[in-house]
Amino acid sequence: MDILTINDRPGVYPDSYYAATASAPAPFPEAEGEIRADVCVVGGGFTGLSAALHLRRSGFDVVLLEASRLGFGASGRNGGQVGTGQRVAQPELEQMVGLETARSLWQIGLESVDLVRQLVGQSGEDCQITPGILHADHRARFVPETRAWVDHMQQTYAYDHIRFLDRDEIRAEVGSPGYHAGALDLGGFHLHPLRYVFALAKLARDEGVRIHEMSRMVDFTPGDPVRIRTDRAVVTADHLVLGLNGYHNNLAPQLARRVMPINNFIAVTEPLGEARARSLIANDYAVGDSRFVINYYRLSRDHRMIFGGGESYGYRFPSDLAAKVRGPMLEVFPQLKDARIDHAWGGTLGITMSRLPHVERLAGNVLSASGFSGHGVAMGSLAGKLMAEAVAGQAGRFDLMAKLPTGPFPGGPLLRSPLLVAAMLWYALRDRL
Ligand SMILES: Cc1cc2nc3c(=O)[nH]c(=O)nc-3n(C[C@H](O)[C@H](O)[C@H](O)COP(=O)(O)OP(=O)(O)OC[C@H]3O[C@@H](n4cnc5c(N)ncnc54)[C@H](O)[C@@H]3O)c2cc1C
Repeated sequence: MDILTINDRPGVYPDSYYAATASAPAPFPEAEGEIRADVCVVGGGFTGLSAALHLRRSGFDVVLLEASRLGFGASGRNGGQVGTGQRVAQPELEQMVGLETARSLWQIGLESVDLVRQLVGQSGEDCQITPGILHADHRARFVPETRAWVDHMQQTYAYDHIRFLDRDEIRAEVGSPGYHAGALDLGGFHLHPLRYVFALAKLARDEGVRIHEMSRMVDFTPGDPVRIRTDRAVVTADHLVLGLNGYHNNLAPQLARRVMPINNFIAVTEPLGEARARSLIANDYAVGDSRFVINYYRLSRDHRMIFGGGESYGYRFPSDLAAKVRGPMLEVFPQLKDARIDHAWGGTLGITMSRLPHVERLAGNVLSASGFSGHGVAMGSLAGKLMAEAVAGQAGRFDLMAKLPTGPFPGGPLLRSPLLVAAMLWYALRDRL
């Protein structure tokens, strides 16, 4: 099963609202013949582009290979939410790795969000950065936990951008009858993800990264140097950096055991008009709710609802993506019953068992970062930078991330899908109870 082609045509962006509202840089040439570089980066999403850019800034000669177009993967298709911290909340993280490491990871998380802001600023591109991420509780029983979490963040981490919202406050922010309380984090923001990809691409191109699109790595041979093969080129490099996330397609069996592809879907309504849009989300925050199969949504600049929800664990996308997302969207906003859906698309992301990123040195000179579990806009960008640091000989923070527990999925690459589907369906069912 080829994850890159099963749902998409190579070289063609999906019919997304993002592709319709961003202007891509001129296509980059396909890689051909014998190519020599200090570092070969594979994958043209946030992780690969950030790695390539930071490597170049450290003086390396860098070639980046992208199988399709830049941002063709999850980076060009996601919800655009740039949340602080890791995918796992700090209290849970403290249980997993201890307070000291959890504190370091919190700092890394804060840096990742700042990094995105800085890179967008350096590019001079309008990536539509808009402050505020709101967590919404869809069950009353979650409210004490949310209140305790906010207190904990304020007290233990001295983080004062977050505040608890009671029932009246959240209903003033989100025009849905279903929420009981929530938390507003003004340290996070949302943006136009594909414009951010293109902003990174322009920085990388202008600073001298040699970018090749339509240049799929077929395999690589570890060694010193490492050899990377595409259909029409062989790249020989001192280091290989992989940013493949959910698209690793078993190119490296170590990744296949720990990083599993799942699909998630987004639908975008017709423009709703400012007043109607503001009655749904009053202050332009991005929202993510407490369901296990999370609903996440925000408004576009032209007052559309961009709504993400619904997952699938087989490789093939459902045939009617708009219908797939309309269900969860109407559960949250029944008042959108008659809103037309103008765009609907799916994307593939990599998840890990623990929902922490999987950062690994696959061989001495082969590094990989993936499995961001729906939290990769900022963490993918930072992971790219950490891989660049590691190649340059400063591996401290890369090694810290590499120690995070991301155990193998039970059942191995063949059986894990059915097992995961069963587990996920159970949790999704619990969402409804
Ligand atoms: C629908 C959806 C919603 C999401 N919402 C959010 C959100 O709101 N906030 C958040 O933080 N995260 C979100 N995520 C996750 C986030 O998008 C990812 O974590 C992030 O984009 C990962 O970036 P990446 O560069 O590691 O991988 P990708 O962007 O997937 O890039 C991998 C690239 O590698 C290329 N490639 C694959 N195989 C090869 C090969 N053999 N040779 C060359 N190139 C290859 C692919 O074409 C692709 O462009 C979401 C993901 C999806 C799918």
